[in-house]
Amino acid sequence: MNTLSITNLSKTYNNGVKALDNVSLNIQNGLFGLLGPNGAGKSSLMRTIATLQNPDAGSVYLNDINILEQPHQLRENLGYLPQEFGLYPNIPAEVLLNHFAVLKGISDKKKRKERVEYLLDQTNLYQHRKKKLGGFSGGMKQRFGIAQALLTNPKLIIVDEPTAGLDPTERNRFHNVLSELGEQAIVILSTHFVDDVKELCTNMAIMNEGKVLWSGAPEKAISNIEGKVWQKQISRDQIEGYKTEYMVIAEQLFRGKPLVYVYAEDDPGTGFLPVQTDLNHVYFSAIQR
Ligand code: ADP
Repeated sequence: MNTLSITNLSKTYNNGVKALDNVSLNIQNGLFGLLGPNGAGKSSLMRTIATLQNPDAGSVYLNDINILEQPHQLRENLGYLPQEFGLYPNIPAEVLLNHFAVLKGISDKKKRKERVEYLLDQTNLYQHRKKKLGGFSGGMKQRFGIAQALLTNPKLIIVDEPTAGLDPTERNRFHNVLSELGEQAIVILSTHFVDDVKELCTNMAIMNEGKVLWSGAPEKAISNIEGKVWQKQISRDQIEGYKTEYMVIAEQLFRGKPLVYVYAEDDPGTGFLPVQTDLNHVYFSAIQR
């Protein structure tokens, strides 16, 4: 079992933006979802854990590695899949993965070949191994990214915004690869898609404006707000009034008319109906509050 301990991490950029505000989290093997809107500070946190940038204050430990003081040891145990990574379009997948393995210091040719073939198989790319990366779909590129991140058996895997731009089939396949990884390592997945977290993660944190608003198991988060989310269909010209009177956490159209969701400890009356709560309500109520 691995443990990542993040304690009181803060970071203010030169332009004055406080991207991390006293962030503390404890994360163990399995899939951990870091959920938050754009600008919440997710990438800043991921880059700090990946030792690509330094915080102003705080500490991060992977097991007994103090990652700020021992970045090399951390990197030996890290697989990092950034949002976008450059690929060489004219090189076949197998050749490029072998090349990355050389760069990562797997010098024994036979072992390297075995590792490359194993990872191509694990990421469902074996049948495409002779294809050039330029011809890969978005999902295949993502899975290739995972394969390269896994070359050295990392204890910690960081995946930034993994499913943006994937079609449902690709997304499913990618999810399967990720969930297998969670059995042996800490996998942190940053995303603004609630469904990614709902489908995959055993633990999660919700971030906004550099702060952790909530962390724990998704089902605990859902049970915390059970019976506190209400819905009502209203007319368009009522929306603004409802927003001042109630804590509206979401609105959507239903058969062309606005449906508002409000957070309230008790029945707000006036025609509101209770809603079966899900992770979307957790997310939007955390962000609104
Ligand atoms: P997220 O990944 O959740 O979208 P980021 O960590 O990328 O959030 O950004 C958090 C905040 O910090 C945003 O307001 C963003 O504009 C700002 N920010 C991110 N990187 C930098 C940087 N290198 N310099 C200045 N501001 C930055």
